[in-house]
Amino acid sequence: MIRNNKLGFGMMRLPVTNPSDAASVDFAQLEEMADLFIASGFTYFDSAYIYHGGMSDVAIKKTLIERYDRDAFTLANKMPTFMVSAASDFDRYFSEQAERTGADYFDYYLLHDLDENNYANMRRHGGFEYVRKLKEQGRAKCIGFSFHDKAEVLDKILTEHPEMEYVQLQINYVDWESPAIESRKCYETAVKHGKPVIVMEPLKGGALVNIPAEAEKILKAARPSLSAASWGIRFAASLPGVIMVLSGMSTLGQVKNNVSIMKEFQALTEPEKEVIEQVREIIAAATAVPCTDCRYCADSCPQSIPIPDYFSLYNSHRLFGFNPIIHNYYRNLTLEYGKASDCVTCGQCAERCPQHIEIPEELVEVAKTFE
Ligand code: SF4
Ligand code: SF4
Repeated sequence: MIRNNKLGFGMMRLPVTNPSDAASVDFAQLEEMADLFIASGFTYFDSAYIYHGGMSDVAIKKTLIERYDRDAFTLANKMPTFMVSAASDFDRYFSEQAERTGADYFDYYLLHDLDENNYANMRRHGGFEYVRKLKEQGRAKCIGFSFHDKAEVLDKILTEHPEMEYVQLQINYVDWESPAIESRKCYETAVKHGKPVIVMEPLKGGALVNIPAEAEKILKAARPSLSAASWGIRFAASLPGVIMVLSGMSTLGQVKNNVSIMKEFQALTEPEKEVIEQVREIIAAATAVPCTDCRYCADSCPQSIPIPDYFSLYNSHRLFGFNPIIHNYYRNLTLEYGKASDCVTCGQCAERCPQHIEIPEELVEVAKTFE
């Protein structure tokens, strides 16, 4: 179970040996990262059926199950609600997860990515009954869900399913007042229902690590020794009722940095909250596309367009201005994948996007910039 602190190891962005193959998890590097994480007193690892094409579950087996006592770490895993089309799918996906990870049970088991549509899908096929059964059987110790929709939908789900023990929300200081994400409203809804909160995307997929120079300057003036990432993590971890803050870690350096922030965690002071507000305004104005690189859209495109990679390049272009290296990156990607202008506006990607980005429209801007 969760011990002494609130930092969780998100397994959505593990190190890979081949940058164009998400399944090529670099197990040697991951072992080193997990060892440091656990040796520093942290225990929580967060996987999902779809992360790294299923390899995040395999990584759990190789890195944790086969190398540590089971009570040395806490496991969270998620049912892919958006892939369920019949009641029999639940057993199929859960059995696969149990097999891939080698885990007899998960400490935390979540219905993944509930929004209005996925919620209706779970009601239709019995998703809530299924996770309750897992809990009765001891195969899931605590049950909950991750969520990407408006606060009123969250309120409805928590009212209709009070048996859910916690909720995982996207919370970071840029999305706090965002009308698309409604971080603050969702957080307040969870608190109203008395549900503990697990935070995802505290650094908005890395966007709060490499922030504009003007914003960086403000943070450094306030606390010269603190990194930009530490402000993002402290913002989320300072909220009452937050029991865990997940950070998707890809390098040993990121583990070291996160561990050092959370080992000696200090909640934000009132003056620091004002500093964050200034920085939030600068970043919000500079971010063109609010993509978090979750890659939920990755397999949906019939034109093989690497959507989050293009948005990342486009955001860099908008933040830092023209840079021939960024244009070269774009050109190199188009040698292997579809161009932004190859989009046929089928809309399949946008349906999967938890950030509600109008992907085809944004790709038009990407094409104008890079082609
Ligand atoms: S709308 Fe465009 S980018 Fe999205 S899946 Fe269809 S072709 Fe691909
Ligand atoms: S476009 Fe949306 S679904 Fe795709 S990676 Fe970005 S945030 Fe995720």
